Order: sequence, then C-alpha cells, then structure tokens
Amino acid sequence: MNSASIDNKLIKNRYRADCETCLGLCCVALPYAKTADFAFDKAGGIPCRNLQEDYRCSIHTQLRKSGFRGCTVYECFGAGQKVSQYTYDGQDWRDNTATAKEMFNVLPIMQQLHEILYYLHEALHLKEAQPIHEHLKLAIVETERLTQLNLHHQLSCNFQLLIIVLQLTPCWCKQVNGYVLM
Ligand code: SF4
Repeated sequence: MNSASIDNKLIKNRYRADCETCLGLCCVALPYAKTADFAFDKAGGIPCRNLQEDYRCSIHTQLRKSGFRGCTVYECFGAGQKVSQYTYDGQDWRDNTATAKEMFNVLPIMQQLHEILYYLHEALHLKEAQPIHEHLKLAIVETERLTQLNLHHQLSCNFQLLIIVLQLTPCWCKQVNGYVLM
C-alpha cells in the first residue's frame, strides 16, 4: 500500500462515524417519521425509545427487521464523535438541558462540514481534479477551521458553508467538466 492510499484510509476513518466515542447524538438530536425507514415518529431533541443509558441501541442487531432501515444507512461522517468529544469536551447532554439543545443544533451543521471534508479529501486523490488541487487544499483548511469553532460560531456555519461551496463549484465545474462559467 503506498503512502497516498494510507493517507486516504486515515482520512476516511476520520470522517466516519465512531459510535463508541459518540454520546448517541443522532439517536436524540434528529427527528424521524414513521415510514418504510422508521417504525414510529420521533421529534428532534427527544431520545429514541431504543436508546439505552450507555448510548447504545437496544435493537442494534435487528434494526432492519424492526423497521429501522433508516438507522442502518445514516452516516454522520464523524460529526457525532466530534461534537461529543471535541466541541463539548465529553459533556453529557443528559446533564444540562441548555447544553443539550445546543449540541442538537450543532450536530447537523457539523455533519455537513464533515461530509464536505470527506468529499474534498476524496477529490484530492482523483487525477482529474489535479488542476484544482490548490483550491481543494484551501477549502479543506477553511472547512476544518469551521469544525473547530466554538459552539456559537458553529451555529452560524451554514452561511460560511454556502460561501465555500459557491467558491469551489465554479472552479470545479470549469476545470474538471470543461464548463465556461466566468
Ligand atoms: S433505533 Fe437505535 S440506532 Fe435508530 S435512532 Fe433508535 S437508538 Fe438510534
């Protein structure tokens, strides 16, 4: 295995859910509705009734059979452990209602930032994207910086996220797909 593929693997692991170090955030923060993917309705900010005290899922091995296909395909891209252990330094959302509310608001924003980082790193390993490598590297640094902001700044990230995407998209389209946008 060459160093580029090792690096790629490390990066992919960083932007992949690690439920062992997450405080079950997606099972509380996110809402879901009774559909083919979920067996019942749940509002955002309310713990799923299958979530145990130790943040593990009581039906983990039978999710699909139990009507929770949606849980088997959800990917937080490592946002859950980042919010739990980095942004909130391991604080338990059960201990403080105000902190819990903030964590639940930050999670989907962190998820978007981590998803973007995953694809930016993936693009760095594509030969076709070579002409925009420098743009990609800058976008990675800037997006990574956003993931490290304190919680109040995190909550305004949606706007900054949009700026990054808008800055990158014309460059990507023009150089990779051959479109003339400017
Ligand atoms: S069913 Fe399990 S994995 Fe899905 S939200 Fe509930 S506790 Fe989490």
